[in-house]
Amino acid sequence: MAKIKIGIVGYGNLGKGAIEAIKVSPDIELVAVFTRRDPQSLQIDGVKTLHIGDAPNYQNEIDVMILCGGSATDLPEQAPIFAEMFNTVDSFDTHAKIPEFFELVNRAAVSSKKTSIISVGWDPGLFSINRVLADAILPVGENYTFWGKGLSQGHSDAIRRVEGVKHGVQYTIPSEDAMDKVRSGLNPELSTAEKHSRVCYVVAEEGADLASIENEIKTMPNYFADYNTEVNFITEEELQRDHSKAPHGGFVIRGGNTGNGNKQIYEFSLKLDSNPEFTASVLVAYARAAYRLNKENQYGAKSVFDVAPSYISPRTAEELRKDYL
Ligand code: NAP
Repeated sequence: MAKIKIGIVGYGNLGKGAIEAIKVSPDIELVAVFTRRDPQSLQIDGVKTLHIGDAPNYQNEIDVMILCGGSATDLPEQAPIFAEMFNTVDSFDTHAKIPEFFELVNRAAVSSKKTSIISVGWDPGLFSINRVLADAILPVGENYTFWGKGLSQGHSDAIRRVEGVKHGVQYTIPSEDAMDKVRSGLNPELSTAEKHSRVCYVVAEEGADLASIENEIKTMPNYFADYNTEVNFITEEELQRDHSKAPHGGFVIRGGNTGNGNKQIYEFSLKLDSNPEFTASVLVAYARAAYRLNKENQYGAKSVFDVAPSYISPRTAEELRKDYL
């Protein structure tokens, strides 16, 4: 059977993860990586690298483009342009702006008769699906999402802006106490701050005032002030050795009631060594769905809510019924 032909737009963490995910997907092949930088500068082993400006010439050679740009500025610009030419999947994760992003991509994809699956990944993505499933199945109840243990890029950047800080990383840690309460079916009211704590690892500049760094981090509004925040000072070697991966994960839990007061706890969780490699693996699986939906003339933008599980699987419907039902 012919393989599904993929292009990757953007060679960052996600783009690198997508290359790895395609390597272990026998029904999918990578045609090329497209970048805004000089393609020669990337040097990816065994992969054709092209300038993003060459992408329009590949409309007949690529079935689905996996858009691996950043959510803040890359995807709002790139996704509608690519949806005019290709079926696409992306991992747009600015939750508050998803409705307008959907409309933007939908307009382009409908007019070009392409299929674009937006906001694919784990949150948004697999977590979203589980929030919907739990809510539909247990209408009497409450949904909770906990993130972590995970490295937060935004909070790590905030630490690095503090005077005297050379390097720093921040992990978001879900509160065991809050999760226990939710799992016991109490359906407590919890603020984001009650659900998570923040643990920072900081490499200070030589001679820097450690107490003042710690105080500035712990009192930083919006980022740390409302949380239980821990600051640990470490050496550059320790940072390299222990904190160079990008772990993440979390929990979607719904505490519900059925019948005469029977408690029902629905829980889905992920524990990821590498957030971008996992997210890219989800994108590659949903690239199958974009290809198949387009073959069925299902044009326009879709979200993970619109895609049946069999569309993302490399297995046949018969295999799925026999082995996984
Ligand atoms: P990233 O590494 O910053 O890459 C973003 C883009 O920046 C790349 O596509 C690349 O485009 C450019 N770039 C990367 N490295 C560069 C460098 N050294 N110099 C110059 N440009 C460089 O971002 P990412 O970690 O892949 O994440 C992308 C997005 O995924 C995030 O914004 C986030 O919103 C989303 N995400 C979603 C989920 C989810 O669950 N839905 C999970 C994780 C992440 P060019 O090759 O064109 O230069």
